Amino acid sequence: MRDSFAIGRVFGIQIRVHLLFPLILAFVLMQGLSQPGASAADVLFLIAAVFLLFGVVFLHELGHSLVAQSFGIQVLDITFWPLGGMARMAELPEKPRIEGLVAIAGPAVNGVLFTAGLLAHLLLGLPIALDTLPGYFIYINLAMGAFNLIPAFPMDGGRILRAWLARKRDWVDATAIAVNVGRLFAFLMIIAGFYQSCVLSLIGVWVWWMGARELWAVRMKHKAQRFYEQANYPGSEMGGLTPGFTPEDLQKLEAFRGHLKNFKQRDD
Ligand SMILES: [Zn+2]
Repeated sequence: MRDSFAIGRVFGIQIRVHLLFPLILAFVLMQGLSQPGASAADVLFLIAAVFLLFGVVFLHELGHSLVAQSFGIQVLDITFWPLGGMARMAELPEKPRIEGLVAIAGPAVNGVLFTAGLLAHLLLGLPIALDTLPGYFIYINLAMGAFNLIPAFPMDGGRILRAWLARKRDWVDATAIAVNVGRLFAFLMIIAGFYQSCVLSLIGVWVWWMGARELWAVRMKHKAQRFYEQANYPGSEMGGLTPGFTPEDLQKLEAFRGHLKNFKQRDD
């Protein structure tokens, strides 16, 4: 069973909505209705605010996607899910410049929208009020841009950090350092979530889990590359296997290739 459904296509990129997405609407509605004296107008405002929020999320992801496309990288889809949006790309090349530019494009979109909203308010002489949609627009762009710049790999800031580290380091080492820095921030988010909002804790768990997953994938990919390079040496023992390679390593490699295959198969 698929966990998301397609709702359209923009710049050749499929737009998908995760099955859990309606949860966020339900959550917001419940919070809105639980406020004493909430009117129908308040609830309508909340719904409009959620759609505005995800509109901005979409533009943020589109920023990543269009910069990736400009480097010839295939963008598979953009999926909305309760914690935000995610642009899935076919393998990104391990080039610090491309990784850095693709990562910074999302927060850059928020920066442009924030500046435009702020200028429009100043030119029109409007006060910036959070309980109006234009005011909320300015606020979410500032918050989204700043939050995503936290160096919590695999969030944008963490990817920018890895790109910066990888200028003078091996890609695997740069990823490992960025993931460890990310874990520190993930830990802080999980703790802060207890005092602030459970959503922050959830993002912390997500950062920890996805960082570990990506580090594992990068390590396996580089192991696989070494394995295939060594396998090409004629006459080497065990068909190119080095003593450092155990059957478990091979099994993991197979599993990783399986993942890759599944990954490509989902692109339909
Ligand atoms: Zn982003």
